[in-house]
Amino acid sequence: MSDFVNARKPIQLEHGEGATLVDDAGTAYLDFGASYACVPLGHAHGAVETAVTEQLSALTYAQGSYPVAVRDELYGTLADAAPGDLENVWLCNSGTEAVEAALKFARAATGKTRFVSAMQGFHGRTMGSLSMTWKRQYRQPYEPMLEDVEFVPYDDPAALGEAVDDDTAAVLLEPIQGEGGVNPASVEFLEAARELTEEVGAALIFDEIQTGLGRTGSFWACEGADVIPDMVTSAKGLANGLPIGATLCRDWIAEDHGLHASTFGGNPVVSAAADATVRTIQSEALPAHAADVGAYLQDELERELGDEVREVRGAGLMVGIELKGNAGSVARDLALEHGVLVLTAGRTVVRLLPPLVVDEDDVDRVVAALSEVIG
Ligand SMILES: *Cc1c(COP(=O)(O)O)cnc(C)c1O
Repeated sequence: MSDFVNARKPIQLEHGEGATLVDDAGTAYLDFGASYACVPLGHAHGAVETAVTEQLSALTYAQGSYPVAVRDELYGTLADAAPGDLENVWLCNSGTEAVEAALKFARAATGKTRFVSAMQGFHGRTMGSLSMTWKRQYRQPYEPMLEDVEFVPYDDPAALGEAVDDDTAAVLLEPIQGEGGVNPASVEFLEAARELTEEVGAALIFDEIQTGLGRTGSFWACEGADVIPDMVTSAKGLANGLPIGATLCRDWIAEDHGLHASTFGGNPVVSAAADATVRTIQSEALPAHAADVGAYLQDELERELGDEVREVRGAGLMVGIELKGNAGSVARDLALEHGVLVLTAGRTVVRLLPPLVVDEDDVDRVVAALSEVIG
């Protein structure tokens, strides 16, 4: 078998529409993981399909140094959507590349080398971003990692204060840790990160690859906390399922970023998809919808499962359910017996990252299925 990397699931997916996926036997599944938050608008969204097919027949590729209207359009759309004045946009093809770029930009702009990251954090699997990723199993076979990286306990402002010094180039954090178990940071922690980096002239980078694009109730999670970093990374759902990454940064970073590039970054077809995705999230007010439906989801989970589980946590449509037992077997039973697809985060957490278009009826179905499997 040529795919020696993925653990293959016992379902062969064939097509999808909205929050529904259908397998080769015609069985429908409610996709409450959005395939790792990669389809915020749901599967086969018309606006994205139209944008992609039109661009595909007009111009599939042009190197980055030639201006292309659809790419410039996306630069403008992302600059408008950016938190604060992070209006400078660099485009690539995945999350880990967006993080790599942020790390390189931070070193170039500050002239410093040290990085600070958080325990349980996840930032990608290429050497730089992997060096900022906590989980030992992901790192150990590939060591040595980057030197000059210090991990601090997440959500611990005092520990962060001890780690950040005059040699720090950047502090990299997820506003809510996804892979690490859906762990929200307190506003105080994010504020401390902002103050500490400002004091020493380090860049504050928020990895919003999972939290961004409206999922947590505001377009970026950092806006919900009212803490604006120097750089934000985005990827996953940014082009509603096509490969893309983006690094957004302030002027002082962009002005002194070194020499970085990506052949396929800003590909016109993918840019068209991303522009349609971001505009649709905005025009359909999906961040507010995610806040409403997400609040209903958390309330229902508490009401139906509060006694059966350890904790329900998260923001908007990024929700973790910490179980007393194993999450993997719950996810499998949900899929095979109830037609509900969810994600896990670690051994005991069921992670819900549905498309932002789900409604209360969808929530009711998922909560009922969870009650049967867990209760
Ligand atoms: C998924 C993810 C990444 C890595 O993205 P890839 O596109 O898989 O490289 C980085 N950071 C966070 C927070 C993620 O959720």
